[in-house]
Amino acid sequence: MARDSRYDILFEPVRIGPVTAKNRFYQVPHCNGMGYRDVSAMAAMRGVKAEGGWAVVCTEQCEIHPSSEIAPYIELRLWDDRDIPALARVTAAVHEHGALAGIELAYNGPNGPNLTSREVPMGPAHMPIASYSYDPVQARAMDKADIANLRRWHRNAALRAKRAGFDIVYVYAAHGFSILDYFLSRRYNTRSDEYGGSLENRVRLAREILEDTKEAVGETCAVAFRTSLDNLRGNVGLERAEAHDMIGLLAEVPDLWDLALSDWDNDSRTSRFAPEAAQEPFVAGVKQLTTKPVVGVGRFTSPDTMVSQIKRGLLDLIGAARPSIADPFLPRKIEEGRPEDIRECIGCNICVSGDMTQTPIRCTQNPAMGEEWRKGWHPERLPPKGSDATVLVVGAGPAGLECAVALGKRGYQVALAEAGREPGGRVAREARLPGLAEWARVRDYRVGQLHKLANVEVYYESALSAEQVLEFGFERVVLATGATWRRDGVGRARLEPLPPSGDLPIFTPDDLMAGRLPEGKRVLLYDDDHYYMGGVLAELLVRAGRRVTLATPAADVSNWTHNTLEQGAIQTRLLELGVEIRPHRVLEALGGPAATLACVYTGREESLACEAAVLVTARLPEDALYRDLKAREADWAAAGIVSVEAIGDACAPGTIAMAVYAGRRYAEELDAAPIGDAVPFRRELTEFAQETLAEVQLPR
Ligand code: ADP
Ligand code: SF4
Repeated sequence: MARDSRYDILFEPVRIGPVTAKNRFYQVPHCNGMGYRDVSAMAAMRGVKAEGGWAVVCTEQCEIHPSSEIAPYIELRLWDDRDIPALARVTAAVHEHGALAGIELAYNGPNGPNLTSREVPMGPAHMPIASYSYDPVQARAMDKADIANLRRWHRNAALRAKRAGFDIVYVYAAHGFSILDYFLSRRYNTRSDEYGGSLENRVRLAREILEDTKEAVGETCAVAFRTSLDNLRGNVGLERAEAHDMIGLLAEVPDLWDLALSDWDNDSRTSRFAPEAAQEPFVAGVKQLTTKPVVGVGRFTSPDTMVSQIKRGLLDLIGAARPSIADPFLPRKIEEGRPEDIRECIGCNICVSGDMTQTPIRCTQNPAMGEEWRKGWHPERLPPKGSDATVLVVGAGPAGLECAVALGKRGYQVALAEAGREPGGRVAREARLPGLAEWARVRDYRVGQLHKLANVEVYYESALSAEQVLEFGFERVVLATGATWRRDGVGRARLEPLPPSGDLPIFTPDDLMAGRLPEGKRVLLYDDDHYYMGGVLAELLVRAGRRVTLATPAADVSNWTHNTLEQGAIQTRLLELGVEIRPHRVLEALGGPAATLACVYTGREESLACEAAVLVTARLPEDALYRDLKAREADWAAAGIVSVEAIGDACAPGTIAMAVYAGRRYAEELDAAPIGDAVPFRRELTEFAQETLAEVQLPR
């Protein structure tokens, strides 16, 4: 199909210094937890983006010298020439599909404790390291010789980047992840020499490095400047007005302006806290300050929004990290006139959790993300079916939907049976909670795909029993029947059920999602789950007029959401809503009407008056059907059943991303040759390990 002419403007080429982007789709640099450890996997992931139509595909940040590294986080390295071949693999993968390759050179300075290199970090002034983990390390103030060294290191890295084949070389000054941020900042830069004080002075180092980079590689490579438009810390840092003044000072120096917010949690806000195009108020006006092209982000998934950003003179290039992770083929789908096939990012930041936990990137919407090289998965293509097996998928939550779609695309005959009247399972329920509406996209994308698959039949209001499954007579049975929240208090902190609570009513997240709310006004919400659910339900209860105390064994609310960059926003919101927060507390008993809470350190108990309790602790799989079918294994052969498997939450409750992944994995591996005890994915093994294997005496 031809593309809608309304979107033609998105496919215009854009000149960026000495290079030309073939369209306006620009994958801005993003971390992925693979970096130097998993270069082949990272290169393959970038290559798939290029294949999907992005005109520019950038790397994550790339450390330029061992005197500034951000271990334990795993990014890229261009410390010396020996790092060039790994990066050449990235540019080759990107160039293979006609895209430009960009590299984000970074010198973190005060943002990295140098845990690997053990070099003393440097900054504009003496200051504690600004990393997430409060490392007991300080950066020392740089003198003029240090500045000269930094300029030389950056120049050398730019030359190496050029040799590795990059078309766009970044000077990075955003997110608080670059020493240039700290030089630009009024808050951190307390120098009294020509690099501190006035804005002109604070901009000096960025200008010098930009000019060095242009001089070194500018003839063939575009030089991009990535900067923060506001660090949202009020008048102690870089605010919008000053950022615009800074852009004015450097207006024509770089070939491209790449706009961000600081810190990262402000730049990559989740859909719970920011809609599409939320950065517009900051970006507005930048294009009037420079003739150079401007790229900005805003979790853009709608082509209409993208067109509007261009037409209203806000941006020249549509920047995307998360939308390109959720759908590496987003540009191609618009170009081919099928925008309804876009797998829209839901803004959950599970992708960020890979980087935060130093593990390969994953994505709720795109189960192939990070698996392009490891498992050979592709976001759009699946292998053709390996047999004529018929497959019955039970349960249309994220696991069942993904499984049915992927099996359908492989060409299998599939039946999807769902007990309820609507598809989506937990996603349909959770998307109705405050701030989580966009999560429904997990369901909507898959339901849209199912409509196109004539070989997948969907049956609603079909709660299947073991007998019915046997009667159905499909060869493969996949149980994606989900999970239920526990009502007995068992979770991480408590391993035994709570004693009987008398008259005090107990609620679970399932109750609240089904509209059953406590009648009493004073509610204790006990969160021993630590992801989003406890915080979201506290918000729901307050909005429904309840007075909420949130008790948790953790140090803060929704603790795991540090990994999705949301914890600060969640706790701020709950405090502003008047939720009383009691950290470091284990729930010992309910009844009375009160809760007994114990301090996790001293065991000292306190009583908290409440009329109801909501327990957000752990879940148990809905596996009755699975167990019934297992009990009747003797009847399978007569019914034509070859295998029965539980996947997703029905196997082990986890994130939505894990459920989608489980559905995809079942579909990918059906009829594949068994791998036995082999490692189920490719690994990047060093030459050292290969060469010495023959000499190593393995224990028998
Ligand atoms: P997951 O996250 O693993 O996909 P969900 O809880 O989101 O799990 O979805 C499970 C779905 O399975 C729900 O929509 C539920 O209605 C459905 N379901 C559970 N048991 C049965 C059954 N016996 N027959 C058909 N559907 C079922
Ligand atoms: Fe978007 Fe979530 Fe995927 Fe990240 S993990 S790209 S936020 S859907």
